[in-house]
Formats: sequence, C-alpha cells, structure tokens
Amino acid sequence: MEKLPKCAANYTPLSPVTFLKRASMVYSHRTSIIYKSTRFTWNQTHQRCLRLASSLRSLGITKNDVVSVLAPNIPAMYELHFGVPMAGAVLNTINTRLDAANVATLLAHSEAKLLFVDYQFVPLARQALCHLPSSAASPAVIVIDEIDDPTGIRMDGGLEYEQLISGGNPDEAAYEVEDEWDAIALNYTSGTTSAPKGVVYSHRGAYLSVMSLLLQWGVGNQPVYLWSLPMFHCNGWTFTWGMAARGGTNVCIRTTSAAEIYRAISDHGVTHMCCAPVVFNIILEASPSDRRPINSRVEVLTGGAPPPAALLEKIEQSGFHVTHAYGMTEATGPALVCEWWAEWDLRPAEEQAALKARQGISALALEEVDVKDVKSMESVPRDGRSLGEVVLRGSNVMKGYFKNEKDTNAAFKGGWFLTGDVGVIHPDGYLEIKDRSKDVIISGGENISSVEVETVLYRHPMVVEAAVVAMPHPRWGETPCAFVALARDEGGEQQRVREEEIINHCRNNMARFMVPKKVVFMEELPKTSTGKILKFELREMARNLKPLEMITTQPATWTKKGLIASQDNMQTLPTPITTN
Ligand code: AMP
Repeated sequence: MEKLPKCAANYTPLSPVTFLKRASMVYSHRTSIIYKSTRFTWNQTHQRCLRLASSLRSLGITKNDVVSVLAPNIPAMYELHFGVPMAGAVLNTINTRLDAANVATLLAHSEAKLLFVDYQFVPLARQALCHLPSSAASPAVIVIDEIDDPTGIRMDGGLEYEQLISGGNPDEAAYEVEDEWDAIALNYTSGTTSAPKGVVYSHRGAYLSVMSLLLQWGVGNQPVYLWSLPMFHCNGWTFTWGMAARGGTNVCIRTTSAAEIYRAISDHGVTHMCCAPVVFNIILEASPSDRRPINSRVEVLTGGAPPPAALLEKIEQSGFHVTHAYGMTEATGPALVCEWWAEWDLRPAEEQAALKARQGISALALEEVDVKDVKSMESVPRDGRSLGEVVLRGSNVMKGYFKNEKDTNAAFKGGWFLTGDVGVIHPDGYLEIKDRSKDVIISGGENISSVEVETVLYRHPMVVEAAVVAMPHPRWGETPCAFVALARDEGGEQQRVREEEIINHCRNNMARFMVPKKVVFMEELPKTSTGKILKFELREMARNLKPLEMITTQPATWTKKGLIASQDNMQTLPTPITTN
C-alpha cells in the first residue's frame, strides 16, 4: 500500500479534559456532583469549569503555571481538575496531611502561582506561607468556602472560590492543548522512602490511564462514584477525569469515615469506589450506629499498599466486590490490575483471596511490565519464586521529576522505569509484589519478604493490622520483627493475645527462618494519609528491641488501653506506642 504521510490536519492531542465538554453535551442533565445538599449537572459543571478557567486567566495564569490546591474531596477540588488545565496551567494537588514545613517545601519547589485552600486548611496554609524560604515567591491564595453554608473565612482580604466562578466568562473558549505531552498535573511522591519528588503527568498519559482503567475495572456508563480515595492521590487514580468520561455521579465527602461511607452508599446508591486497603478496616470495624445495610454490590478498586488476602476475604463477605490494582505516583496511579478470570469463581474463598492479593497484569496504557534483575536487566523466570525488581514502560509512566534531572535519570534504565518494588511473576503472567526493595529482610543470607510474613499474620483471627520490618540480630544480621494491632471488642477495648501465641501461629504457617523473633502490639500502626504503613518509623523502633528469645519473658502485662507486652518489651518500647 502507498505510504501515507502523517496527517497534520487530523492531529488531535489526547487530553482527559475533553471528556468534560462531551459530558456537558451527552449527559447534560445528569447529576455530576453530589455534596451535602449541593447538586450539579454535567452542564453546570462544564459551565463552572469554563468560568473558573476564564477567571484564572484574568488573574494572569498562563500555560505551564502551577496552581496548587489544599482541599479534601469537595466539588471545588473536582472542578479544579478541569478548570486549571482549561486555563493551560498545571494542577498540583497537595496531600492535606502534610505539615506546614512540607507544604511550604512543595509550594516553593513547584513555584506555585496560586494556592486554593479549603477553609478547613487555612491555618495550615497560613503556617506554610510563613515557612516559605525568602527566595520563593508567595502564591496568591484563594479560599474555598462551604457552598451551602459559607463560613466567611478569607485570607488577608483575598478572593473566595465562588467569586471566581461567578466572575468568570463561560463563553471564553478554553485553552486548547497544543501538544499531548504538555503537562497537566504535578504530583509529589509521598516520600515514604526518600524526599518528595515532583512527578509530572502529561495530558496523553492521563488520558490513556483513564481509558485503560475504566476498561479494566469494567466501569459502565453512569456509575455512582464515591470519593473515598483522596483526589490528591494521583488525581484520584485519574477517576476525576474518568467520571466525566462515563457521565458518572461524583459523591463528594469531606472525610473517609465509616459513617460517611455507609451513609453515601445507602443514600446515593454508590456503585463504585476506590480506596487503600486500610479503608477496609474502617468499614469492617464500623460501630453499629454508623452502619447501614448494603443492598447492592459496591465495586471497589483497591491499591496503594498490599491488601492482605484475609482482609480481602472479609470485605467481600460484606457486600463489596474488590478489584486489586498496584501502582504509584510515577505511573499516573494504577499500573497493574489483577484482572479476574471467571473460572476462579469456582475456587475456595481462601484461594480466591490469595489470587486476588496478587498485583496482576499490566494496565492497557503500559507498553510492558516485567520483573528483572536490574543489574543485568535480565527477566526473572516466570516461576512465582524468583525475585526481581518490577519495571514498567509505557505512555502512562511520568514525563520525569520536575527540576530534578538526577533522580529522573536514576529512575530509568534502558527506557524502563524502576519501581523499587520487589516481586515475582507467576507462570500465568500475574505479578506479585513481595516487598519494597528497601524493606526486604536479609536474615542469615536468606531474603525474607515482609509481605509474606504479614499475609500469615493477617490470618490470625485477632490481627487487624500487621507490618514486618528488619530488626538487628547478633547471629543472623537481621531478623523479622512484627508490629500488630489487634481487633477490639464491642466496648472498643483491644483483644488480648500473648506474643508467644502470635509467634506460634507464624511457626505453624511459615518456614522457620521467616518467623518473627519479636512481636510488638500497638493501638494502631503509623500510616500515611494514603494508607501506607510508615515502615521506616517501625524500623527505627525495631532497632532498639531485642528478639524474644534473648529476653527473660515475663507474664504479659496489660495497660489500661489494652497494650500487650512482656515487662521487658514494655521498657524498651518508645513512648508513642504506649500512648494514643
Ligand atoms: P505512591 O507513589 O505513594 O502511590 O506509592 C507507590 C508504592 O506503593 C508502590 O511503589 C508500592 O510499593 C506500593 N503499592 C501500591 N499499590 C500496591 C499494591 N497493590 N500492593 C503492594 N504495594 C503497593
């Protein structure tokens, strides 16, 4: 066939922002957003975003300017996902759990021109601005007030969000993306293993991620989507834009509490939600007064941390149908999805949960995913046992780290993005993460996967949270140390279990060398707001602990709050554990 030239007349850059205009036409009168007593239609959302973009431009915002936001999952946060790129700018959503110094670091590094702040976070924003280095320009601040019940809080006589909406011109054409590789968002990594880095997403990467995730999660039209995952986490794993593509209803909630989740499901007929596995505990441990009956199946996409098989089994018995995904900020959210095979439905529940706990196969937007020995870049055998580093390449991998060539270069090898996660590939092609490379425990020369030990701990009926880290050992170099939180009784008191019982449970269920030599009981494990257990904090604590075999075990001692430990352990525990 005759070779046709590339058709410039037909070039249309991919951008997820285009989903909104389409939604305003095809889903015009359908509900786009529900928040408390506020309801918008897709037509209204489109108009509001056009007005927002027009106001941003009149404030001098232009292409590639960074606009930051500190807000929970409220309608304004959703609208900014469209309004900011419709002004040609780059959206930077900030984790609301960061402290003022960290927020200041991100504002200075991103050179944000504007900062939108939900009224609840005004004190944090004020402090952050005080922490800005003198060399950094202070962004103009716009407060976002409650729509239906304004508090009147403003920052230094500045503007309020609804003023921008009402003052904008909806007839002004939105910014047209010229190049699909242009930046749409800047998301900082959570910094659990190193200092936060600014990950730049392209319009193309975001568009392709949306498409592949909607397909692989099987999201049909008009879903009712509950915002239980923070929109600041990888732009809500791209479902901010994705809901416009499907004409969905965005149910916004301020906090991911059991009461809000159950109320939203029962009042609005939620069909889909995303969350970290830690939210399953919130749902399962809800008090009777917060619970509502779940009358139809709720599809949940979970990821961000390994979901223990035992927890998957429990949550699925409660009316939630889980799809497991694995990803990271650098991959525009989920990079792997554990696609389900109909024949697996016939397997016993425990086996199904173990299959689902695997991280799965590549998202369609990825060109390829593999597990490699990163020194030789050789693929490991597909035997479910050989460990290697998970590597990715494809359009939804970030453009790079903002103003950080050194880390960008270090993150890629031969075109592959090195995730820092250690995993295996099973013979059926499904990947399973065994650890972060920095979390692998090396005991007497043997690699121990903390995830494998945690999986067994979660099978103990009293364990609700578990994390395993390396603890120094005079003979083995390192040995596993387990931190666990126990289930509570109806009065909210933690159950009582002896350290030896947990260790015996492990002995009965895993190879001897993997058995934790110390178990520390905590009220709750320390976590990031995106549900990742802060293992470096636990490692610090473990450094000062001794293996159980090396201390004179005394009968278990109980604190008022139900902390369980032998006397020796109690003395070595740092204060944060014994208090709540
Ligand atoms: P973040 O960039 O903050 O989303 O963190 C990404 C990291 O979270 C990954 O590199 C993994 O270590 C971890 N992670 C995300 N999803 C999963 C999952 N489904 N299973 C195990 N670890 C996960």
